[in-house]
Amino acid sequence: MADVAAARLTIDLDALAHNHAVLRAEAIGAEVAPVLKSDAYGLGAAAVGRRLWAEGARSFFVARLAEGEALRAALTPDRPATIYVLDGMTEDSGPRLDAASLTPVICTLPQVAWATAHATATGRRLGVALNLDTGMSRQGLTRDETRAIAQATDRLQGLDIGLVMSHLGSASEPDNTRNTNQLASFLNVSGLFPDARASLAASAGIFLGAAYHLDLVRPGISLYGGGPREQPDGRLKAVVTLTAPILDLRHLRPGDVLGYGDSVRIPASTRVAVVAAGYTDGVIRAAKGAGYAWFAGARRRLLIVNMDVLVIEIGDTKATIGDPVELLGPNALLDDLATAGGTVAHEILVRLSRRAERVYLGEA
Ligand SMILES: *Cc1c(COP(=O)(O)O)cnc(C)c1O
Repeated sequence: MADVAAARLTIDLDALAHNHAVLRAEAIGAEVAPVLKSDAYGLGAAAVGRRLWAEGARSFFVARLAEGEALRAALTPDRPATIYVLDGMTEDSGPRLDAASLTPVICTLPQVAWATAHATATGRRLGVALNLDTGMSRQGLTRDETRAIAQATDRLQGLDIGLVMSHLGSASEPDNTRNTNQLASFLNVSGLFPDARASLAASAGIFLGAAYHLDLVRPGISLYGGGPREQPDGRLKAVVTLTAPILDLRHLRPGDVLGYGDSVRIPASTRVAVVAAGYTDGVIRAAKGAGYAWFAGARRRLLIVNMDVLVIEIGDTKATIGDPVELLGPNALLDDLATAGGTVAHEILVRLSRRAERVYLGEA
């Protein structure tokens, strides 16, 4: 029997397919290569990968080697695809990359050397992507490093560079000149590899316009329902819905102090619902006060969020113990919860609980 008081996490694969179609239409002419790192942002890389493959995706990105191996296993044997590993490679990861047919995204000079050494050792050409730093200063070969290897072609011996890519640091702000600077600098260095395809845009970059699409785009968060500008976007559907039942209904009186500490003092008589979900389930604690849940057709302020329970204000709305409250979904919006908690939608998704009962809707 299902746990009566369990939070339930619903992952709607049809909504995922809808968002994929929106991104494909937006980036028309470019290949849409979904980013499935961190277990597809916590949604389950196997189900997400299979469904997106069925929707036409043939290239995917993960962060870690082990994530690539798991995704390959989930797609094997009927679903051939290119799987890029954003971490690149280590001195001894070549055999594991080969075994799972993974494509490392090379992002340092030592990785260039390990890649060529691996190609030499196996006597086979190694397919790689190159990550170039165009101003985010986080990962990728610098402009000088890129020029140096492009000019000394023996340093790329045995490598087939199928893709060159970079990543935008401020794409959620369309007017930020950092975007145009990064685009110009990327076009400049990517030109050193005329035979490779080029990729710059993640979710937010896709919505900067066609100049940013190039050959391939790499959306993550917008596939999973997060707006590209860190705010709700009506074109995208919620993929994740988190609901939990009401455990108790209480009347609070002026002067009552709610929860731990004494920061939540009740100013006037009010009715609250105690809900069977907490920060363990992914409703981050910092969202109390500014955040809301959805119940009986309206937004309800989150008064406190504890480990296993949270409390919302419901006024005189009719409610019964056991009624479900939407904590995240089509009405309690992912981007609003992130804003209320001082974070980004990405972090909310990857923190969603393993404790909640998981239900997938739609074909995987
Ligand atoms: C995570 C990541 C993406 C996807 O970013 P979203 O903002 O989730 O669309 C794309 N490219 C790289 C290199 C990334 O690390």
